[in-house]
Amino acid sequence: MISKDLFKKPNNRLEGEQDAAKAARQAAAWQCAECKANATRDAMTANDYACPRCGAYVSMTARQRVQWLTDEGSFREMDAELLPVDRLRFPEYAAKLEKAQKETGEPEGVLTGTAAIGGEPCALFVMNPMFIMGSMGAVVGEKITRLFECATKRRLPVVGYTVSGGARIQEGMFSLMQMAKTSGAVLRHGEAGLLYVVVLTHPTTGGVVASFAMEGDVILAEPKALIGFAGPRVIEQTMRQKLPAGFQRAEFLLDKGFVDRIVPRKDQKQELRLLLTMHRREANR
Ligand SMILES: [Zn+2]
Repeated sequence: MISKDLFKKPNNRLEGEQDAAKAARQAAAWQCAECKANATRDAMTANDYACPRCGAYVSMTARQRVQWLTDEGSFREMDAELLPVDRLRFPEYAAKLEKAQKETGEPEGVLTGTAAIGGEPCALFVMNPMFIMGSMGAVVGEKITRLFECATKRRLPVVGYTVSGGARIQEGMFSLMQMAKTSGAVLRHGEAGLLYVVVLTHPTTGGVVASFAMEGDVILAEPKALIGFAGPRVIEQTMRQKLPAGFQRAEFLLDKGFVDRIVPRKDQKQELRLLLTMHRREANR
């Protein structure tokens, strides 16, 4: 009897190498969600995390943004040991946290620390859209509060990148409390004569907008970012009226005076460096 295996190609070393090369190619491949253009991941990241063809922005994790923004090796992370607690035993929250931690490799939804941007020292926080939609739980609020307190003590300006679905419902009142707590820390930092620059990225909503996202001395935004408290559908249903075109987009908010300037990603490092330099010179006078 003839074995079926007889007609199988024997495994050879070259074939294994080809498979490895193919897997590496696939890992390096990237496709734009907007225009479907194919490019390598490296080409996209080298283009400041924007599609090389249509320019659409790619969502960045907090760590990717820190690495992209700050001077090499300058970031000193703070409070990385703070872990979220399922205090209310909210249904499915523990599993959700575990999943988010596994998928992102991060314990929580914000990174904080000190860094340099174009040689200018600052305290920095960057929220993570991949961690339960960048929602603000007790640890996110605590880390941001501690960052402002540390910056006040060390007389450092704060640069913050927001992206958030709002307060984290699974932490109920503990989450809402963070709005007041972070706002208090931002206020004391400002009263000490220190600069806070915030960059609003897509989307920044809910309790984060109602607190530290809108409390910057200078409020920058990425183009087309959705920025608002309640979602447009909720507002339309409550007010029973149609909202204007472009409502809650960065450009609309710039027009209404809620945002100071819209800065494309490729210009942000330069813009932040300039603001930090101007402020340092002014503070030293
Ligand atoms: Zn594209």
